[in-house]
Amino acid sequence: MMRPAQDSKGAVDVTGPADGGRLIVLTAPLTETIDHAGYFIQMALASMPMRMEAVIDQKYPKWREVERDPDGSARYMPAGVRLVEASLLREFPAEDVACCYPDDISRFIGPRTRVVGVSTHNPLGVTFAAGVYASVFGSSRETINAHYAKELFRALRQSPYRPSFQVMVGGSGGWQVSQTDSYQELGVDCVVDGRSESAQVLELFQQAIRGEALPRFVEVRHPESREALLTPARRTTFGVVEMTTGCGRRCQFCLPDLNPQIDFPKDKILEAVRSNVREGNDLISLATEDMFIWGQVRTGTPFYFPNREALVDLFTDVVNTPGVNHHLLSHATMAPAVVDPKLITQLSTVLLDKSPVKLPRVSTHPEARILSPLVGLETGSVRMAKQIMPGKSAPFPIEEWPSVVIQGLTILNRNNWFPVLTLMIGNPGETDADSMATLDLIYEVERRGLFAFFVPSIFTPLHDTRLATQKGVIESREMTALQWQILLKCWKMSINAALHSWWGPPAWRMGAFLLWLWKLRKTNGPAFTWPLLMFTNTLPERLMEKIGKIYRGRPLAVKSRKELLATIKPQHWKYLREDNGDLPDGWEAPMAATSPLRIFQSEAGCD
Ligand code: SF4
Repeated sequence: MMRPAQDSKGAVDVTGPADGGRLIVLTAPLTETIDHAGYFIQMALASMPMRMEAVIDQKYPKWREVERDPDGSARYMPAGVRLVEASLLREFPAEDVACCYPDDISRFIGPRTRVVGVSTHNPLGVTFAAGVYASVFGSSRETINAHYAKELFRALRQSPYRPSFQVMVGGSGGWQVSQTDSYQELGVDCVVDGRSESAQVLELFQQAIRGEALPRFVEVRHPESREALLTPARRTTFGVVEMTTGCGRRCQFCLPDLNPQIDFPKDKILEAVRSNVREGNDLISLATEDMFIWGQVRTGTPFYFPNREALVDLFTDVVNTPGVNHHLLSHATMAPAVVDPKLITQLSTVLLDKSPVKLPRVSTHPEARILSPLVGLETGSVRMAKQIMPGKSAPFPIEEWPSVVIQGLTILNRNNWFPVLTLMIGNPGETDADSMATLDLIYEVERRGLFAFFVPSIFTPLHDTRLATQKGVIESREMTALQWQILLKCWKMSINAALHSWWGPPAWRMGAFLLWLWKLRKTNGPAFTWPLLMFTNTLPERLMEKIGKIYRGRPLAVKSRKELLATIKPQHWKYLREDNGDLPDGWEAPMAATSPLRIFQSEAGCD
């Protein structure tokens, strides 16, 4: 039987909410909850070391000022928390469940409380980008986000009602607690791996309410059908509304790809969009691993030939929902841009005016707006790509990956899409030749006047992925000069476009140079020095190449779009759209078929 807390003298603590608290309290670290301070702050909070928090405070002085509903509950919460809330509200009355910010837990946790659910995506700071940036700066590896997550767990441990409730952790970072066996340190009773729709999750909450001890780790089944998926009925952080689960390209390092490939029905998506608007959100972000698979899941056409009509129809209806003023793209893949350039053009027409992201240096939009989905580039080395992501370029063979990237980026840039391209450094078995191939691709992008935000990170074997047992580079000191050059060349290119003032890039570089003099040369080792001098423009890159200190990439032989289309398996040519041109010689128009939109709508039950 659970008991309320007693102090050291045995007196029961009687402070707490007047109503006895909520039976179930849901929360998340503040750093994963905010969305009012800008679009990039969460990325910074997740990757910067704690000692650099002052930089965030200076740039976003009001980032901790969150809004609350009249009862003190959270106005916005990460989509994962809202999903748990929606799942619970199928079985529990609203008075039993509260979503609140970490600072407010004492207003909701009381003697009635039996379970506190915490959703977190990176409590210990060990995902791709997080650890390495903290390590580069030579500080303790605790990121700002990890610090706030630990603060939340500490507050829960210190709650006077802790003996009478159990702490259940979910979200994409739950594995960090279980794999590092941090249960005791964080005060976690149970880690739940998986989505919250299942009956299994409801049963766990019931168990906690009955006062039964929860199992330490539970893996719940992912829904297998569109009908079994739920969408939040309340406002979510950044207006996140899920669009798909899974992906299908089968990259070896990828966790979301282990989930079944499902696209959410359009009516459920629009319902969640309207819920966000109703609760004061004017920003929507359709969350996905690859936006281009939506509308092409189980239609009979391979998912890597996007369903143009369905996608344009969906996004049009989302951004035209009354009250939606902004829309932010989430994740995409590169090959569909090469397959269907007209899709990119049509989506630009629909989405650009509502994009909150502006980049005057490169955009031709009258208000300098751009579309900037996250796209995985990962490596420029075909050898490495074959090993870790053979399906990344489908329907093109992986041997064509560098050409797919260049042609795809050309099409995207032409339409004011300037994606965030993620790269992985230090993949298992990576050689200098692989690093050089990646630099070839990066310099080719620069030579052609193309632009993307390259975001490199160090390979981290994520649990349960197909590369989970592999070892890559772990510390920044282990990185080779070529790997450092990839990292710093990417930063240099991104900073040039992102900092608008004339003095921004030189000031940034000077700061980096001074930091190197003071500390980083010792922290990161000798392989760091010349790439850093390249980053700071201390010497011209040409000169550094001449004296053999950096590698500036060889020009790539890039296939044209027509040549690329000819590399697609002939049995798939029928899925190519004639209006895009560049068709392979010998291509024949497929027999008249029902339009892709119609096929999708009849399956989806939309009209
Ligand atoms: S394309 Fe992206 S989401 Fe899909 S499997 Fe590869 S890494 Fe995962």
